[in-house]
Amino acid sequence: MTNKITANKVVTLAYILRDDEGEIIDRSREGSPLLYLHGAMNIVPGLEEQLEGVCEGETIQAEVPPEKGYGPRVGEAQDVSRDLFPDGAELSAGMQVVGHDEEGRRIPFFITGVSEATVTIDPNHPLAGETLHFEVTVQSLRDATDEEIEHGHPHGPGGHSH
Ligand code: ZN
Repeated sequence: MTNKITANKVVTLAYILRDDEGEIIDRSREGSPLLYLHGAMNIVPGLEEQLEGVCEGETIQAEVPPEKGYGPRVGEAQDVSRDLFPDGAELSAGMQVVGHDEEGRRIPFFITGVSEATVTIDPNHPLAGETLHFEVTVQSLRDATDEEIEHGHPHGPGGHSH
């Protein structure tokens, strides 16, 4: 029987991610594929959906709209004072930071620029609003262990170690 992707399989993927212009924006590195637990929302929903039922060894092209990727863009980037960040904090564009509002709720945002006095923060993931074009090869598949299912992520080489 062919091994197919279903819930509670640990999947090893090699992937290339391109934008609408065909430019490569991300890819797995040779020898370090992506490991994820299928059905546990480890990856963007649109990709997980399209990987359902795919066989070991198969390569697919998956187009994922923003609503099933990193979401549409909401809100605007803004400049805030660098004083809001701890002294000596290493800040650079591309970092994800979690702040808190008055009620203590977590607000994740991304740093898109840093100057001496200000930091530009954006509530959007850098890939929000983008249609994602994936080329994905399923390198291997195995059943998840009970512990992995309980944790919601894969363990072992390429997965969580804790
Ligand atoms: Zn774990």
